[in-house]
Amino acid sequence: MTCMSPTPSETPERFDVAAARARVLRSVADAAKAAGRSSSDISLVAVSKVQPDFRIEAMLDTGQRTFGENRVQEAYERWESRRLEYVDLQLHLIGPLQTNKAKDAVALFDVIETLDRLKLARALADARLAVGRDVRVLVQVNTGEEAQKSGVGPREADAFIETIRKEFGLEPVGLMCIPPQDEPCGPHFALLVQIARRQGLATLSMGMSSDFETAVRFGATHVRVGSALFGERR
Ligand SMILES: *Cc1c(COP(=O)(O)O)cnc(C)c1O
Repeated sequence: MTCMSPTPSETPERFDVAAARARVLRSVADAAKAAGRSSSDISLVAVSKVQPDFRIEAMLDTGQRTFGENRVQEAYERWESRRLEYVDLQLHLIGPLQTNKAKDAVALFDVIETLDRLKLARALADARLAVGRDVRVLVQVNTGEEAQKSGVGPREADAFIETIRKEFGLEPVGLMCIPPQDEPCGPHFALLVQIARRQGLATLSMGMSSDFETAVRFGATHVRVGSALFGERR
């Protein structure tokens, strides 16, 4: 069994983001309850990359305030001016970050989920000082050890975290992973949980549209959901 599940079937024009969000929140609550967890310990990160403005506005109208983006430039275009209007926005960077964009990322985002190499750790530590914002950082772990995916290898993760603490004074708040598409996701979530426990890290960003319920059962504190909330991306 893999973690694929059907995506919503409404046509793009008619997709009702408020109804979709209510469905996703209900599924999160059900999965939390089944696992003996409180749904208030799980944050829904609405992945808004590539989505048209009318859907972003509709999502903001539901009260959703936590959003995920995978590109710095695109996130500026979508969120820089909205930040002034919605003071309680929480923006998560969930895509790869180039070191030369570290300062821009620290200036816009509240959470950077994709720390995956020492050079970037240094750039983020410098950028936090330069910009003066105490951005939270997650280490991305490539649990499937896939060549095309970013992330620290699961066997290198402990040493990596200890190094960034010692060398750069950078204390990550948690871990993030994207399991391989063609494998059951449970073992990958379990592996992430193990590393987080060893390192005393509380935040676990895992689970997307197709597998967020499983992720909640395994202990996710943040689920990153795009198409199940907004409809298909173009
Ligand atoms: C796009 C993306 C998501 C959301 O994917 P969906 O399948 O649309 O929910 C989650 N996490 C990351 C890192 C992404 O790039």
